[in-house]
Amino acid sequence: RAKAAGEGTFARYDPAMHSGLVDRLQLAADLRRALETTGELVLHYQPTIELRSGTVTGFEALVRWRHPTRGEISPADFIPLAESTGLIRPLGQWVLAEASRQCVEWSRPAPDRPLTMAVNVSGRQFDQTDLPAIVAGVLADTGLPAERLCLEMTESVLMNDTEENLAVLLSLKQIGVKLAIDDFGTGYSSLAYLRRFPVDTLKIDRSFVERIGGATPDAALARTIVQLGQSLGMATVAEGIEQYAQFLALRRMGCDVGQGYYFSRPLPAREAGALLRDPAAVAV
Ligand code: C2E
Ligand code: MG
Ligand code: MG
Ligand code: MG
Repeated sequence: RAKAAGEGTFARYDPAMHSGLVDRLQLAADLRRALETTGELVLHYQPTIELRSGTVTGFEALVRWRHPTRGEISPADFIPLAESTGLIRPLGQWVLAEASRQCVEWSRPAPDRPLTMAVNVSGRQFDQTDLPAIVAGVLADTGLPAERLCLEMTESVLMNDTEENLAVLLSLKQIGVKLAIDDFGTGYSSLAYLRRFPVDTLKIDRSFVERIGGATPDAALARTIVQLGQSLGMATVAEGIEQYAQFLALRRMGCDVGQGYYFSRPLPAREAGALLRDPAAVAV
C-alpha cells in the first residue's frame, strides 16, 4: 500500500511511509509466526509436461501464504519480505523438505515413472555456505534421489560471481541435484557464466512465450534459447504456456518441457495428486 512512498524519499514525516514500515514489521512478525503454525504456509504444485509426449514429468512447488486476516498473499509480495528479514532461510528449508517429501509420496505407486520436483531457491539461500548440507539432509530424511530434485535460481545468483557462490553450486552438483536458471533471458548477465556454472536446465521466461506466435522477436529469442540449451547440452523448459498455439510453437522449436495455465494452474497437493492418477486431466 505505502510501498511507493517508501524507498529513496527524505520526507521528515510521511504518514504513508510510517504505516508502510509498521505494516512490514507486522507482516514480518506474522510470517515468523506462520512458520511455526501448521497450514498457513502451503505448497501448490504446477505440473511440468514433456512437450513431445504430453506426459507429466513432475511439478514445480510454489509457496502460498494463507494469512488469517489478509487472505492469500502472493509469494511475489512476501518472498522479498522473507529475504530482507532472514526468514527466507527457515522458509526455504521448509519448502525444500515439504516438496521433497511430497515427491516421494507421489512416486511410491509408480516407481518406474520417476517424477521430478522443482523448487525455487532464493539468492539469499545460495549465500548460505551450508545450503549443500541442508539439501543433503533433506534428501537423506525424505529418501528422494538427488537427481529428482531441481533447484531453480535466477540469473542474479550467477551474476553474484564469487568463489563462495561457485563452491556452493559445485557442491550441490556433487550431491547430484539438478540446477535450473529461472526466468532465463530477463537478467543482465553475460552468457559467460553458462560456461562457469554447472547448470542443467534453462527455463525460458514467460515474457518470451507470451508473444511467440508468428515471426515476432520473442519467437526468435525463444528459439535461440532452445538452440542455446541444445548446443550446451542443457534441457529447456518454457514457462507461462497459456495457449495451444504457444505449446505447438515451442514443441516445434524442440523445447523439452513446458508448464503453464494451458496445461494446469498450480494446484493444491490433493488436486495435483489426483491429476497424476488421471493423465487425461492435463490437456495436450
Ligand atoms: P517463478 O518461479 O518464475 O514461478 C512461475 C510463476 O508464474 C508462478 O507464480 C506461477 O503461478 C505463474 N504461472 C504459471 N503458469 C502461468 C501461466 O500460464 N501464465 C501466467 N501468467 N502465470 C503463470 P507465483 O506462484 O505467484 O510465484 C511467483 C514467484 O514467486 C515465482 O516465480 C518465484 O520466483 C517466487 N516463488 C514462489 N514460490 C517460491 C518459493 O518456495 N521460494 C522462493 N524463493 N521463491 C518462490
Ligand atoms: Mg520457478
Ligand atoms: Mg520462472
Ligand atoms: Mg517467471
